[in-house]
Amino acid sequence: MARFIFITGGVVSSLGKGLASAALGALLQARGYTVRLRKLDPYLNVDPGTMSPFEHGEVFVTDDGAETDLDLGHYERFTGVAARATDSISSGRVYSNVLEKERRGDYLGKTIQVIPHVTNEIKDFIRIGEDEVDFMLCEIGGTVGDIEGLPFFEAIRQFSQEKPRGQCLFMHLTLLPYIKASGELKTKPTQHSVKELRSIGLAPDILVCRSEGPIPVKEREKLALFCNVRPDSVIAAQDLQSIYEAPLAYHREGMDQAVLDAFGISPAPKPNLARWEDVVDRIHNTDGDVRVAIVGKYTQLEDAYKSIAEALTHGGMANRVKVRAEWIDSAIFEREDPAAHLQGFNAILVPGGFGERGTEGKIKAAQFAREKKVPYLGICLGMQMAVIEAARNTADLSNAASEEFAGDADPQSFTPVVYHLKEWVQGNAKVTRKKTDDKGGTMRLGAYDAALTAGSKVADVYGATAIEERHRHRYEVDIEFRKQLEAKGLCFSGLSPDGRLPEIVEWSDHPWFIGVQFHPELKSKPFDPHPLFADFIRAAKEQSRLV
Ligand code: GLN
Repeated sequence: MARFIFITGGVVSSLGKGLASAALGALLQARGYTVRLRKLDPYLNVDPGTMSPFEHGEVFVTDDGAETDLDLGHYERFTGVAARATDSISSGRVYSNVLEKERRGDYLGKTIQVIPHVTNEIKDFIRIGEDEVDFMLCEIGGTVGDIEGLPFFEAIRQFSQEKPRGQCLFMHLTLLPYIKASGELKTKPTQHSVKELRSIGLAPDILVCRSEGPIPVKEREKLALFCNVRPDSVIAAQDLQSIYEAPLAYHREGMDQAVLDAFGISPAPKPNLARWEDVVDRIHNTDGDVRVAIVGKYTQLEDAYKSIAEALTHGGMANRVKVRAEWIDSAIFEREDPAAHLQGFNAILVPGGFGERGTEGKIKAAQFAREKKVPYLGICLGMQMAVIEAARNTADLSNAASEEFAGDADPQSFTPVVYHLKEWVQGNAKVTRKKTDDKGGTMRLGAYDAALTAGSKVADVYGATAIEERHRHRYEVDIEFRKQLEAKGLCFSGLSPDGRLPEIVEWSDHPWFIGVQFHPELKSKPFDPHPLFADFIRAAKEQSRLV
């Protein structure tokens, strides 16, 4: 049966709880244990699928088709363990389950209350798959003291009481602010945060303290004394140049040792950190850099394309170059010549997106990349835009468009090369959709197989002709246009196994121009860069040596 580690946060948000959890997961793996990481989010949305990327960052999709919090992306990137739908839950989902049960009559006429009904629902969720791994790491979103978080804190308190002694551990992440004027690291906010936790019945075993620099012995002792933890359970989480330094940095600070000690595991198995030493070596020992333009819509918030930014970094690590990604709002190209903005970049990436705004600019970016022979990677919407560009500018379909944007227009007025998919096959089952369906959870979501054309560029990049990648979209390139576009050189080199859905397109006479309907960025890891990103950056590196 798994041991449970609950990770909570205090003082302020955005301290990197997800990262600390992921890095701890990686360290436990380095000691030979199996792990699973989970996120419990107090917000009331049922899942993040319908939340704006501006507000909440990227939606991370799992193989089994759940739209989850971006922290699950960190978990996967650090542990390589594929996240599942059952690794993410929100208050919205918890309440929706409880209310559904109530409507069904499952509670036999009882009054439904936060304790025990809501907390039971949370505990049931935490227990899923508890026999499968050695350690289950559960991160509670938000900060201690948040009103919405209370049922979660109460649930983990009850949970730890129900388990045998020594099977649950609480790790609390806080901030030690540095006051320049007095030259001091302040421990008081952490003391208050722990006090708040204790007032709801939780006592942290381990404190992880974010700070700009090392924690002096005096402050460490003070924290231990006032927060009732052992001095060697006060772990300094100093600011790092790269997030991928976290496992080694936390290991040096004794985080994994403190966790094993707290569980009474002795002697602790020796860690094998070779994977992370190689990762850090690749980050620091690079030979030159490449500039990649990311032409998208959600450019104000970097988290909106978190996995893409990370996958590009991994591609750089595979080629030992530093990737300088710059975000460009595609709407600019609707007013200004893209050449002025895109010259000087070694590669162009058009990521996924929703809605019409900025799409004409993305089409211009694809045209620029095709004509100027700049490496281009189009992801999801970025592939759809590349196909529209090809149809308009090479195949005499000047009114080519996507039904996503021209949906209400007279069907005669445009050529729908990208259309609203209403029926497809998943495994052996048929899936159907209507235009009037709810927005949440109704896209083509999760892992699907694709068959690649032998001898194509992508088959070469993957070193395979059968792949599986994750999807998240409602619209699809129409296979009807295959012949017409292939005659112009745009090859449909990857298709769904039934041959009906185009999954990959590539320009045959271009050094590197690939559009994919899926999201390869979701499966890239620092120690196992995704082949498409690794080869895209290789092409960018080659391009950078030409200019
Ligand atoms: N909006 C497009 C669709 O739904 C693309 C989605 C995406 O890029 N993830 O098909």
